[in-house]
Amino acid sequence: MQNYIDKINEMTLEEKASLCSGFDFWHLQEIERLGIPSVMVTDGPHGLRKQAQGSDHLGLHNSVPATCFPSAAGLASTWDKELIYQVGEALGKEAQAEDVAVLLGPGANIKRSPLCGRNFEYFSEDPYLSSAMATFHIKGVQSQGVGTSLKHFAVNNQEHRRMSVDAIVDERTLREIYLASFERAVKEAEPWTVMCAYNKVNGEYAGENKRLLTDILREEWGYQGYVVSDWGAVNERVQALEAGLDLEMPANNGVNDRQIVTAVQEGRLAEQTLDMALERMLHILDQAVSNRKESASYDKERHHQLARQVAAEAAILLKNEGSILPLVGNTKVAVIGNFAEEPRIQGGGSSHINPTQVDRAIDELQAYTSDITYTAGYPLATDRVDEEEVIKAQQQAQEAEVAILFVGLPDRYESEGYDRKHLQIPENHRLLIEAVAEVQPNTVIVLSNGAPIEMPWLDRVKAVVEGYLGGQASGGAIADVLFGKTNPSGRLAETFPAKLSDNPSFLNFPGEGDRVEYREGIFVGYRYYDTKEVEPLFPFGYGLSYTNFSYRDLQVDVKEITDQESLQVSVKVKNTGALAGKEVVQLYVKDEESFVQRPEKELKGFEKVCLEPNEETTVTFMLDKRAFAYYDVELADWHVETGDFQLFIGRSSQEMVLSDRIHVTSTVERPFVVHPNTLMGDLFAQPRLAPVAKQLLVENSPFAGSDDDNEMMEAMVQNMPLRALVNFGGGAFTHEKLAEMINELNKL
Ligand code: BGC
Repeated sequence: MQNYIDKINEMTLEEKASLCSGFDFWHLQEIERLGIPSVMVTDGPHGLRKQAQGSDHLGLHNSVPATCFPSAAGLASTWDKELIYQVGEALGKEAQAEDVAVLLGPGANIKRSPLCGRNFEYFSEDPYLSSAMATFHIKGVQSQGVGTSLKHFAVNNQEHRRMSVDAIVDERTLREIYLASFERAVKEAEPWTVMCAYNKVNGEYAGENKRLLTDILREEWGYQGYVVSDWGAVNERVQALEAGLDLEMPANNGVNDRQIVTAVQEGRLAEQTLDMALERMLHILDQAVSNRKESASYDKERHHQLARQVAAEAAILLKNEGSILPLVGNTKVAVIGNFAEEPRIQGGGSSHINPTQVDRAIDELQAYTSDITYTAGYPLATDRVDEEEVIKAQQQAQEAEVAILFVGLPDRYESEGYDRKHLQIPENHRLLIEAVAEVQPNTVIVLSNGAPIEMPWLDRVKAVVEGYLGGQASGGAIADVLFGKTNPSGRLAETFPAKLSDNPSFLNFPGEGDRVEYREGIFVGYRYYDTKEVEPLFPFGYGLSYTNFSYRDLQVDVKEITDQESLQVSVKVKNTGALAGKEVVQLYVKDEESFVQRPEKELKGFEKVCLEPNEETTVTFMLDKRAFAYYDVELADWHVETGDFQLFIGRSSQEMVLSDRIHVTSTVERPFVVHPNTLMGDLFAQPRLAPVAKQLLVENSPFAGSDDDNEMMEAMVQNMPLRALVNFGGGAFTHEKLAEMINELNKL
């Protein structure tokens, strides 16, 4: 990092403090006399929300036209890193064209509950997938000389009381699930800025949490950029600055800046702390200014086409009974549902943008068939059932060969700012599906929703396409999928539970008052469903295709490694069907035996491949320590237990197609101190101590019986502390003897 000390030394204390908050809603402060310019930052993350007049962070006022890509739930469903990079590039270009220095996104919060109103803006329930998506998004945007703001750091997993709730999460869960989703993105993609969350984490506001903002983010992960508050997230300004929160947004008219000045003057805040924050901000400002491309522009049509491609790749074919899809050209179709005409392309709140154009499915389907009827089926603004519309829909469905229903969640059902209360679609959507399915056996459902829904009607329909919130080109993308121009290749980045109460956070969401306890721990999403054997509606990683893929020849280059080494896994995948298609090859790891609780399996690699009919390719993965490790709270580090691990190649978290076993040896010895209450079993599990301990016990044990009893006895003593030798020794084994033995063992 360049040295900005000279410049900082030229500033008055007031000037220094002024840089610690915005100039207005979207601009940073300037100091003209020192040549420090004001730059603009705007939302994000799946399109630019640059407000020209009227500023707000709730998506109320209008913004300049920008390409609306699928929101993060859709982006992640592509499982395509390269494509996400391209979306990032496009966003970066649009930001350059609009003179925006930093795009406020992506969001890497974990989908703890399907109810979170903002899930459409987040990638996944799985930290590996989520951080990979965030990494490529950031790299794409920043390749254009525009910064990102990785958000909302951290543990912001609900909207309910989001500015006051305290998320109570244990250290292991924090590391393995909630922080891991940010960690790789910070380390690999180096976002220019990180945005702290509104909520508290284990008792402290995220913005005042030194452990999060300084110890972990900067010292452990090596983060170099500045930390910005979420809009209005600052509680105590001075405390926040000390914790590592550099920039407060939006502008506060100097109110909090004055607190900084006073704190320095009164000796409550070291001026050096302020200087360090300024250094970080000046460094990013410099980057923004030197990367600024004057008179940049972008090709709207190309970006629209990219949005169409991404939306098509994001669509997930959830059901396709009797291969009803793809439809053949000129099929007589009854298109039913308001979303075909007024598509729901994005979610509500700060990410709500003004699209450059919007494609409607009703128009786009004409490219494939001219034999189309249409009726709205339900009103958009209410849940009221329109009987006349339902009858009309039934009539049109009956007269057609196939009925295509566009249903899902209307705007008012999910948004930033509040959570959902249930997983149902509006009653007027559900009744419409049932009424149409009653008269038309060939009923196809197209869903527009930002997060999982329950589907009590699933058995009555032939096919379901999950479109998520597919952005401005989703109408065309869906038409392409329905008629087979695009072979669907989206896979779920989250589990769809059969019912809400199956979700692991159900009993503890959204918490009581200002406290939400993450009692499900590391068992989030499929980690829970697979371990607990709870059948979901659709599992994580799931999605169908119009072609078939076969797998063979799983190879592991070395079967035994230490935790300092890596290994290479390869597998051959072949398209055995008649259509070209894309497959997402998923690699899961299972620890076969462990001292600590581990999920049934965890995603540790994925690749998306495109294959022509009969084409075969080899997919390769590298696995290192992290693929086998859990976060060991005592060691305060990632740790691998020596033992066997299974490697699975899967089609989803529930469908494993190939597996192999490898052995990893730990090079770290966990400290082990023997004391009177050490369990004998724990002692025997220590490779270094076990032989001596066993010998000592055989010599002294009051438990030795006949040979027949020995096995049983051994099992029973496993759970006894060493002092049991005294308790049950009938006086033969004394405390002194025990102390001697412990002393001897601790010397080994
Ligand atoms: C959101 C952020 C957003 C900011 C600025 C806040 O309400 O939580 O994600 O970037 O507003 O609009």
